[in-house]
Amino acid sequence: MLTGPTPSGGEKILQKDDTEPSTHFIQNLIEEDLKTGKYEGRVHTRFPPEPNGYLHIGHAKSICLNFGLAKQYAGKCNLRFDDTNPSKEEDEYVKAIMEDVRWLGFDWEDRLYFSSDNFDQLYEYAIQLIKKGKAYVDELTPEQMREYRGTLTEPGQNSPYRDRAVEENLDLFERMRAGEFAEGERVLRAKIDMASANLKMRDPVMYRVLNAVHHRTGDKWCIYPMYDFTHGQSDSLEKITHSICTLEFEDHRPLYNWFLKELDIYCPQQIEFARLNLNYTLLSKRKLLQLVQEKHVNGWDDPRMPTLSGMRRRGYTPAAIRDFCERIGVAKSNSTIDFALLEHCVREDLNRTAPRVMAVVRPLKVVLENYPEGQVEELIAENNPNDPSAGSRKIPFSRVLYVEQDDFMEDPPKKFFRLGPGREVRLKHAYIIKCERVIKDENTGEVIELRCTYDVETKSGSSMETRKVKGTLHWVSAPHAQPAEMRLYSHLFLNENPADEKECLSSGLNSDSLEIIEKGFIEPFLQDAVGGDRFQFLRLGYFCVDNVDSRSGSPVFNRTVTLRDTWAKIAKKSG
Ligand code: ATP
Ligand code: MG
Repeated sequence: MLTGPTPSGGEKILQKDDTEPSTHFIQNLIEEDLKTGKYEGRVHTRFPPEPNGYLHIGHAKSICLNFGLAKQYAGKCNLRFDDTNPSKEEDEYVKAIMEDVRWLGFDWEDRLYFSSDNFDQLYEYAIQLIKKGKAYVDELTPEQMREYRGTLTEPGQNSPYRDRAVEENLDLFERMRAGEFAEGERVLRAKIDMASANLKMRDPVMYRVLNAVHHRTGDKWCIYPMYDFTHGQSDSLEKITHSICTLEFEDHRPLYNWFLKELDIYCPQQIEFARLNLNYTLLSKRKLLQLVQEKHVNGWDDPRMPTLSGMRRRGYTPAAIRDFCERIGVAKSNSTIDFALLEHCVREDLNRTAPRVMAVVRPLKVVLENYPEGQVEELIAENNPNDPSAGSRKIPFSRVLYVEQDDFMEDPPKKFFRLGPGREVRLKHAYIIKCERVIKDENTGEVIELRCTYDVETKSGSSMETRKVKGTLHWVSAPHAQPAEMRLYSHLFLNENPADEKECLSSGLNSDSLEIIEKGFIEPFLQDAVGGDRFQFLRLGYFCVDNVDSRSGSPVFNRTVTLRDTWAKIAKKSG
């Protein structure tokens, strides 16, 4: 398993190699084909989603691979919806998928295809196979078909309807199309080999009766081609050169090739690669749909979802996701990637681009007893030390501040370099302060206020700044700070491999995956932030303004990712 950064320096294995970029096996295959002129030097790939759900991070791997190869070899990549399964919500999914592919940074230009556009052609192909004696109409019940199919160790048996005459098959298929049969009463099957070691080759179903309205063809059809009788022909019609898919399609390949050969049409090369698996994460549209329908999450774009729309809302950047997809590579055997690697990529990108600001999640009031009442200073804060062009801003400082509750301990251990009775810390961009007294709630004993003094001679950035203390805290000025809702997320599942959870998805759910902070405080200027704006809240993590629940002047902040690696570095330096 690839692991994420650890304080012990495990981070190194994640760094991109500066040496020659290594090519993966699909690039090697393509380069070989380019050398031999197999497809007249063409590279034409496609990304073929079924519009039955929103795209997830696993799809991102496929998108980056297909569009990436097209770009690398000056080829083309199509977006094709494999929409053979009529369902009423498909239009919503089609729109969402197009938005997500564009957001990831890829462009199919004028090459948008729908398998359903090939329904007439596929019907013609079916007739051709019937005429060749390579397809027949069967009337076994679904249960009988299962019995006749055999098992991995036993061959199947021929259907008693297998040797119908061509004319009879043509007539029955025509009548299937005309709506004379109910669902399950008749199917069209390929006549291949009921004894094949590959179960997919045991006379697979090509067409079934489905009285369903299709999102594009409406009620024109009451028979629909199976995915397996559609996918390969769609690739063929689009003149795809390298048809890249995940490993579970390996034993479909002989079937796709059989159809194309029997139809005597152009044959792309299918190449299988290992799908992305991520720990603590489900990557199956069917199961993600279940999470949505059972309301374990607030929709497909819930920031805890591994969907691209969820990640976008959470604050992940397209560049970080592309970087992740590049780092995990492309292989032939399945493995599981550590979620920490994805978070590492997100941090690396945001570290470069997100302005650093101050906010307090759980406020503790601090009163500076020696700071003049009514005085307000404007302090200068740089926006990003990694990017001087990001400039600086002014932040107000006054007698009453908020710091983080976690940054105070009444009886701290020696290495707690934050506030405690009699201890000093630096306030970022401001002064060194000292905790003089603690005020508690009379009834509960809870610490409700710290009485501190500040040292006027320690102003950050001034020539007087000579004295050093170990801890630096973030803060906001109480009379100037704006209240804001903040949402802190963690893994949706407790189980490292939630796909193991057999029947009941909800049993493995982490009940603490969302913590809502109703009233944190932000620097005044942040109240004008808009959906999608990303910031580093110093010491707290990266946050993104929620693009659904934020209102003008009242942003809601999603925590994108914590700053864990920064802390690891600090631990390393001081250790
Ligand atoms: P799901 O199981 O989530 O429904 P799927 O494979 O049925 O996934 P499709 O819409 O058919 O979803 O997938 C479109 C493309 O994305 C296919 O080429 C598929 O192989 C690829 N893909 C899907 N999941 C992954 C994954 N986890 N890793 C890499 N590629 C994936
Ligand atoms: Mg699928």
